[in-house]
Amino acid sequence: MDSQSPFSGSGVVPTYFVSTFYYFTPIEDPEAFKIELKQKAQEMDIKGLIIIGHEGFNTTSSSDSREKLEAWKSYFKTRFQLAELNNKDSACDKIPFLRFSVKVRPEIVTTGRPDLHLESNKVGHNHHLSPSEWDRVMKEERDQIVIIDTRNWYEYDIGTFKGALNPNIEKFTEFPQYFENQKIDKNQKILIFCTGGIRCEKGILELQERGYDNVYQLEGGILKYLEEKPHQEFEGECFVFDNRVAVDQSLQPSEKYKLCPHCGQPAAIKRECVRCDTEFLICDKCVELETKKDTCSKNCAHQWTVRPNKKGPHQLRPYELMIKPQKNKTLEQRLV
Ligand SMILES: [Zn+2]
Ligand SMILES: [Zn+2]
Repeated sequence: MDSQSPFSGSGVVPTYFVSTFYYFTPIEDPEAFKIELKQKAQEMDIKGLIIIGHEGFNTTSSSDSREKLEAWKSYFKTRFQLAELNNKDSACDKIPFLRFSVKVRPEIVTTGRPDLHLESNKVGHNHHLSPSEWDRVMKEERDQIVIIDTRNWYEYDIGTFKGALNPNIEKFTEFPQYFENQKIDKNQKILIFCTGGIRCEKGILELQERGYDNVYQLEGGILKYLEEKPHQEFEGECFVFDNRVAVDQSLQPSEKYKLCPHCGQPAAIKRECVRCDTEFLICDKCVELETKKDTCSKNCAHQWTVRPNKKGPHQLRPYELMIKPQKNKTLEQRLV
C-alpha cells in the first residue's frame, strides 16, 4: 500500500513526516547493524528511535521530507527483502524527534521473555484482525468478547477502545501476570491491542502458551485502526512515544496533552508557573505535590525551593527551542 493518504491530515501543511514500523527477522550482528543504521540515517537525514536486536527491529522514524522518509523505508525493504513494512504513517507540524538514536536490546519490545521467538512472515495471520474486521467484531459481537488494553495505565487513561479492560500496569512485562489473575475461561474470545501492534505480537504467544487459543490481536495497532476508522470504536487520543505525546483521531499531534515537566506522563491540567509566569500543563499526580504543583519545569521547581519568591526567566522546552528563532545559530547548534 502506498502511503499517500495518511499524510494528508487536517489541511495544515505538515512539516514533519513520521513512520512507525517493526519486523521480526533474524539479525546476526546487531552491533554491526547499529553502525550501518547510524551511517544511513545520517546520509538520509532521518531522526527517530530504533530498537534492534537478534530478533529484528522496531522504530518510529521521522523526516522533514516525505521523499527522504520513503527512501528510508525502501532501504529496510531492500535490506531485508520485504514486500511490505506494514508501516503506520502520520504527519505533523511539530518536531517529533530531535535526533536519531539506535538501541541494541535483547528484545525489540520488552516482555521479559527473550526466549519467545517470532518471525513476522511466519506469524499465524488467523490471529490478526485487520482494522475493519476488528471494527466489525466490536460492533457485532460485543456481548461475547473480552477486550483488553495491553498498554500502560497512562496510555489507557487518555484513550482506549470502548469497553476495554484496563490492566493498570506500569510496564508490559506485568501483562501476563495481570492476565493470569483474571482467571478468564480458556475458550473465551479475547481481543487484545496496543499502539502499533508489536506488543501484541509477543503477548499473544505468551497467552497461547498459557492455553488461550481464542485470542486475537489488532493488526497494526491503534495507529492503523485510526488511519482507517477514525471516530468509531476508539475513544480519546492515542499516546505515542515521542514529542507529540499523543495523536488525535485524525493522527494529528495532540492539542490537549503535553508531557508533564516533572514526571513525563501525559498532562492536561493548566497552571501558571509561580517563578517564571509561563503557562504549562501538569499531570493529575504532580499537581497534588507541594514541591511541584506550581512550577513549569524541574529547574523552576528547584530554584523556587532554594530561593522562594525569587522570579526567574521563562523556561524553554525542547520543541520550543526548535520553533523560537535564535540569532546566529543554525538548527544543529540549537539542538546541542
Ligand atoms: Zn507529573
Ligand atoms: Zn517556570
